Amino acid sequence: MPGSRDLKLAVLPGDGIGPEITDATVAVLKAAARRTGLKLSIKQGLIGWKAYDKFKSTLPDVTLRILREHDGWIVGPTFAGEYPKDDPYRGHPNGYIRRQFGLFCNVRPVQAWPQLDPLIPDLDITVLRENTEGFYADRNLAWGYGEFKPTDDVALSLRVITAKACERFARFAFEYAAASGIGRLAVVHKRTALPQTEGLFIGAFERLNREYKKISVELVRIDTFSSLFPREPHRYKLVATTNLFGDILSDQASGLAGGVGVAPSLNAGLDHAMAQAVHGTAPDIAGKGKANPSALIFSTALLCRWFFLRTKNPACRETASVIERGVKKALEKGIMTPDLGGKASTASFAKAVVAIITDGL
Ligand code: ATP
Repeated sequence: MPGSRDLKLAVLPGDGIGPEITDATVAVLKAAARRTGLKLSIKQGLIGWKAYDKFKSTLPDVTLRILREHDGWIVGPTFAGEYPKDDPYRGHPNGYIRRQFGLFCNVRPVQAWPQLDPLIPDLDITVLRENTEGFYADRNLAWGYGEFKPTDDVALSLRVITAKACERFARFAFEYAAASGIGRLAVVHKRTALPQTEGLFIGAFERLNREYKKISVELVRIDTFSSLFPREPHRYKLVATTNLFGDILSDQASGLAGGVGVAPSLNAGLDHAMAQAVHGTAPDIAGKGKANPSALIFSTALLCRWFFLRTKNPACRETASVIERGVKKALEKGIMTPDLGGKASTASFAKAVVAIITDGL
């Protein structure tokens, strides 16, 4: 859809607090789009328990069709491994979506939240995590499982790294570095211990750097990065790394920023991208109007930026910025949900952000 001025979105509310936080998110997105003149079309679909109750599948064909027909998706959390055994997606519909639609990059920006008493008050870093390969035993073979035990006291894990996946991931990272204005990229690796696989990964960045000459690339060993990062947290702005390292580093950064509770994320590919909060379904507070929708709202801002990367439509970038400024202003005014020490309900928080976006920015 390059050049298109409309944002065609699918919204799948999911389980637990999913319906509450997606309602809040859609309200904020609509307000931001009204302000920037971005045309939105939104289609709702089912995933998780509600889909299973109706179609005996947590990810029915009708939902897959909606996903295919829409480039960007806002998806609420789904339960991990608690669906009935006859579910064709074995309780992991999100994992299936990521593989099926080639969402190869997990974008995890981490910003400190003053309300969460962060260890590093002004932390601001983005981790780009390769999302399809690596040491994940459930997804690194076409058939079978990538971790096995030939004898009782020997266990083996396989890690898959392909030149093709490294290339598309590296290109995405360079594009992101350019579009975000960050302009520099730390490629975090462990080539000393894993020369072939990490060599392929690094090689893709070295090759593409000749094309993206304006982006400066620093190769940093994961051990060096881990010891330097807490002491010099502003040294790195944008990190690109393999799947397992990315999983660990993004959570480490979130921990330093005040916890994963409000962390946004985007799972992005070339043709589709999925905005999703890092937190789970929070069954303890589901349906009580206590959930903080900020993580999903910020994830949706990331989705708008991804649309900007693809279409260069400035209204997409503006919409992202309006959303982010609206939420931050609400927090500055002390309008917060109970997890941050406030009294606002999910809906009243969203209403306040909508009012700020409409009249108060
Ligand atoms: P799941 O099994 O889906 O991962 P979980 O409860 O194990 O669910 P989370 O959903 O991440 O894991 O919740 C961990 C804790 O953080 C819970 O106490 C939950 O209420 C709280 N929490 C998670 N997300 C939010 C949110 N958006 N707003 C407020 N509290 C949240």
